[in-house]
Amino acid sequence: MVDRYSRQVIFPGIGQEGQRRLGHSFVVIVGCGALGTIMATSLVRAGIGKVRIIDRDFIEYNNLQRQVLFDEEDIKNQLPKAVAAEQHLKRVNSSIEIEGIVADVNYTNVERLVQGADLILEGLDNFETRYLINDVSLKYSIPWVYGGVISSYGMTMDIIPGETPCLRCLSPKMPSTGLTCDTAGVINAAPFIIGSLQSTEAIKILLGAKEINRDLLFIDVWKGTFQRLRVSRRAECPACQGRYEFLEGQVGVKTSSLCGQNAVQVISPKVTEVSFDKLAQRLEPLGEVNRNEFMLRFVIDGYEMFVFPDGRAIVKNTSDELRAKGLYAKYIGS
Ligand SMILES: [Zn+2]
Repeated sequence: MVDRYSRQVIFPGIGQEGQRRLGHSFVVIVGCGALGTIMATSLVRAGIGKVRIIDRDFIEYNNLQRQVLFDEEDIKNQLPKAVAAEQHLKRVNSSIEIEGIVADVNYTNVERLVQGADLILEGLDNFETRYLINDVSLKYSIPWVYGGVISSYGMTMDIIPGETPCLRCLSPKMPSTGLTCDTAGVINAAPFIIGSLQSTEAIKILLGAKEINRDLLFIDVWKGTFQRLRVSRRAECPACQGRYEFLEGQVGVKTSSLCGQNAVQVISPKVTEVSFDKLAQRLEPLGEVNRNEFMLRFVIDGYEMFVFPDGRAIVKNTSDELRAKGLYAKYIGS
């Protein structure tokens, strides 16, 4: 144990006491793409006592360029990212608890998923879920570290409830640049550096270090520029005033198109559990069905539907949210 962490224990910022503290910490990583895989591998190697990794998606070939935990075998085995991450990381460090959860983080489950966490790390591709993380962090006083990356640049900021500005102080409304990894691309050094900074901030926050990053740090790896932007708390920020608009959520079937893919995710509040046996029985006469324990794939009319045990589905080969909703209602439920 001591030997495993000896190189960071020698480092004065951590030390024996710090290492012990890390060993008793619980961190939740939301999103296991490029940022998430970097953060997960850093924290597991650094000996965080419990790491929970949550992701809703499975692995594709275009992920391998930057999502360091995954390999071709994972794709052949059709593994969801959270499952593959857990499997790989358990081989790296068997002395801690590592938990991969395949789920879409939304207002119905976020409180349960982060319950008891000392810190939340975020490597998401959308602002809606980030605002949700911001709400839950402020409501339960759990610090979190924001990170975002696109093209050759990225940014990060620590959010300590009651102490620093929050994400809605920084950006009151959802940014609508229309830029995604799909349209703007991303080079791998950008998430590598931002993810590394996020995990360093995580360790500092867990250890109560003074030198945490209260600014918005903006880095462009291609231009080689590092900038700090001072962010202030906004008096009228709803989240800082205890109005958690994203956590309160909405009812009804929710759809969202997925970054970097011609695909739409569908979530129905009424369908929270799916029996693959029963569903396969129903769908097999209609189209191609195959499955493993993590998901059921159904092909119909040129669309590919991936259904997860929690009732969530990803409909591929369309970006039309209404169309996806219709297919879900027709074949899965409503
Ligand atoms: Zn705020």
